[in-house]
Amino acid sequence: MYTGTLFIVSAPSGAGKSSLINAYLKQLNSPAARVSISHTTRSARPGENHAEHYYFVDHHEFETLIQQDEFIEYAKVFDNYYGTSKAAINQYLKNGINVFLDIDWQGARQVRNKMPTAKSIFILPPSLIELEKRLIKREQDSAEIIAKRMAKAQSEMSHYNEYNYLIINDDFDDSLANLSAIIKAESLSTDKQNLVNQAIIDQLLTN
Ligand code: 5GP
Repeated sequence: MYTGTLFIVSAPSGAGKSSLINAYLKQLNSPAARVSISHTTRSARPGENHAEHYYFVDHHEFETLIQQDEFIEYAKVFDNYYGTSKAAINQYLKNGINVFLDIDWQGARQVRNKMPTAKSIFILPPSLIELEKRLIKREQDSAEIIAKRMAKAQSEMSHYNEYNYLIINDDFDDSLANLSAIIKAESLSTDKQNLVNQAIIDQLLTN
């Protein structure tokens, strides 16, 4: 049994998912949690680095990794492959480190099937207008790509009900507090406490 928790986090692009996860990790300032680095066939955006934001690989390399059964999940998103390697998460979870997966709903379904103890969080924007504003403001994508992301946003959001928790990211600080509360509550669940504090519980219940 793993003592770390796997947190699946999904959202339409622009909802603030990566910013929230990064702000949580910065605030925590501890090696007890990390975000998994995915493999992708899309090209790096300005400012993105290999092995930091993604492992950027070509189609052939990605397909070889699929054949070698390296992925716990993978999916095609916006015409590119994205996947989470098993190696990227198992070692951490075994050592009590919480791992965040920033993945789409298709990947989330696959992970839930394989790791039913994973907890999932969906992040929604407060409105479609605000979502579009955020996509424009981050200056990462062309107008054509933004239109594509907006068109895809509603189909992504329609899966929110498959997740354990929902955060509507209107005020960033409130959302960060809500994300922290979810993670804290999970660490205090009876299932997790049975793993982490088994010795204390055993001692209390033996004569
Ligand atoms: P972006 O290209 O903006 O970095 O990511 C596009 C979408 O792909 C986001 O919804 C993101 O969560 C998703 N994504 C990133 N990595 C993975 C992954 O390893 N697996 C899956 N299924 N989706 C991913």
